[in-house]
Amino acid sequence: MRIDIITLFPEMCEAVMSESIIGRARKKGIIEVICHQLRDFALDKHKKVDDTTYGGGMGMLMKAEPIALCIENICDTLGKKPHCIFMSPKGKKLTQARLRELSEYDNVTILCGHYEGVDQRVLDEFIDEEISIGDYVLTGGELPALVLADSLSRLVPGVLSDDLCFSDESHFDGLLEYPQYTKPAVWRGIGIPEILISGHHANIEKWRRQKSIEETYRKRPDMLENAMLTQDEKKFLAELSGTEK
Ligand code: SAM
Repeated sequence: MRIDIITLFPEMCEAVMSESIIGRARKKGIIEVICHQLRDFALDKHKKVDDTTYGGGMGMLMKAEPIALCIENICDTLGKKPHCIFMSPKGKKLTQARLRELSEYDNVTILCGHYEGVDQRVLDEFIDEEISIGDYVLTGGELPALVLADSLSRLVPGVLSDDLCFSDESHFDGLLEYPQYTKPAVWRGIGIPEILISGHHANIEKWRRQKSIEETYRKRPDMLENAMLTQDEKKFLAELSGTEK
């Protein structure tokens, strides 16, 4: 997968996307991340990318033309139009389910807004979807874009050492992850659940699944409405809610 990020702060994006798992995946060529300086596409000598809003108002707005030129430049390089996403508090909230769908694309371009936002005309012309990372407002789209680029990259086969790394995690199958423990087996007098050192893999799997259901029930009961549970698991959940009353 190739991810293009259009931003006024490419160094900020580059720094984050060069570290740890994502940085290693880039070095290995499993994913490609290209951070574009939007100012390079400004037409005037002052490299101006923003201007005042029509109709009045306090803030500045990002101009249409530099964004259009940058996206067209990416299209020319790729030989096709990538899936274009604008990070925006007005967008659909990012979910693991949407990430899985997005991970099917070979090319994703992410536009980071700044100031008061972006001229609507360039959004209408090029953007396929708007994505929000939550119901709050940040100063710029860089952090949201990095959230999207990171969470998307780790779904690309080969980025994580084992696909199980993400298929076992919170939100993958509509449940939260079970609690986990590492060495030492006794820490400050606190042990770990005996079953985890039983060596009985089927029982450990069953315990983990039940703990996932329990964790979701306690922390995000709203998620249980859509979770895929077996008859036995539904019974377990009913017992759990029964004992809570
Ligand atoms: N005036 C805009 C509004 O009220 O919807 C907010 C602009 S915000 C100060 C500047 C930029 O930050 C936005 O264009 C967007 O790219 C990004 N941004 C802020 N909050 C965001 C969020 N929750 N999710 C995604 N992007 C966000």
